[in-house]
Amino acid sequence: MELNIFHLYPDVLNLYGDGGNIITWTRRLRWRGIEAKVHRAPIGASASLAGADLVFIGGGQDFEQQVLLEDLHRGRDREIRAAIEDGVPFLTICGGYQMLGAYYETFDGQRCDFIGALDFYTVGSQTRMIGNYKFRCTEAAGGSEIVGFENHSGKTRLGSGVQPLGRVLAGFGNNGEDGSEGVHYKNVFGSYSHGPLLPKNPAFADHLLSLALARKYGDGTLAPLDDREELAAHDEMFRKI
Ligand code: GLN
Repeated sequence: MELNIFHLYPDVLNLYGDGGNIITWTRRLRWRGIEAKVHRAPIGASASLAGADLVFIGGGQDFEQQVLLEDLHRGRDREIRAAIEDGVPFLTICGGYQMLGAYYETFDGQRCDFIGALDFYTVGSQTRMIGNYKFRCTEAAGGSEIVGFENHSGKTRLGSGVQPLGRVLAGFGNNGEDGSEGVHYKNVFGSYSHGPLLPKNPAFADHLLSLALARKYGDGTLAPLDDREELAAHDEMFRKI
C-alpha cells in the first residue's frame, strides 16, 4: 500500500513548521508498513494533483497569499476544486484554509479573490487573534480534542454549504465570536491551527490517513501505535490552555 501526499505551495505557505504535518503523516504510515510518497508543488510546478491521495496546504501571511494568486488562477484552482469534489482528503491551515474560500479581504481593503471551492469568506480585523487554543472536533470530523496555536487577523464566516471543523474550547477559532473553528466539507478539513497541528494531535492525524486509505483501498483500518509521548504532549498542553 502507498499514499501519494501532495504538499501545495511549500515555498510560500509554510509558517511555524506547518511542514511537520507531512512528516507526521509519513512516519505514522511507515510505522505501519505503508509507503508514503511526498510530492512538493511550489509556484510554477507542473505536477498534477490527479494522483493525489492526500493534500496539505500550510499557512502564510497576507503577502504570500497575494504572491501565489496568479499561479493559483492559472489552473490550480480548477484542479483543487476537482480533487475536493472527488473526495480527496485535504488538510489546510490558516492562509491555506482561507484560500479555499471565496475571498480574503485585508483590514485595509486589499482583496484576494480565492477559489470558492468551499462556502465561506474571510475579512481581516484590526486586532490579531494570537495564542495557544483548543477545540473539540465534531463527530463527523472524528470527535477528537485538539490543542493548537493560532495567529491570524482574518475572521472567517462559514456559509450554509459547509460545517465547522469543531467548537472552540479556549481561544478564538474562526472569528472569536460564534465559537466555530475551521471548516469541514466532504473530506476537506481547514483549521487555524499552526504549530504544527498533527504531531501532538495523533487521533486527528490518523483520521485523515484513514479517510485516504479508505478512499484508495476500500478499508481505512489503521493498526494502533504507541502514542504515549504524543498524548503526554497533547494532555499537558490541554491542561495549560
Ligand atoms: N494572512 C492571514 C491572516 O492573518 C493568514 C495568516 C496565517 O496563515 N498565519 O488572517
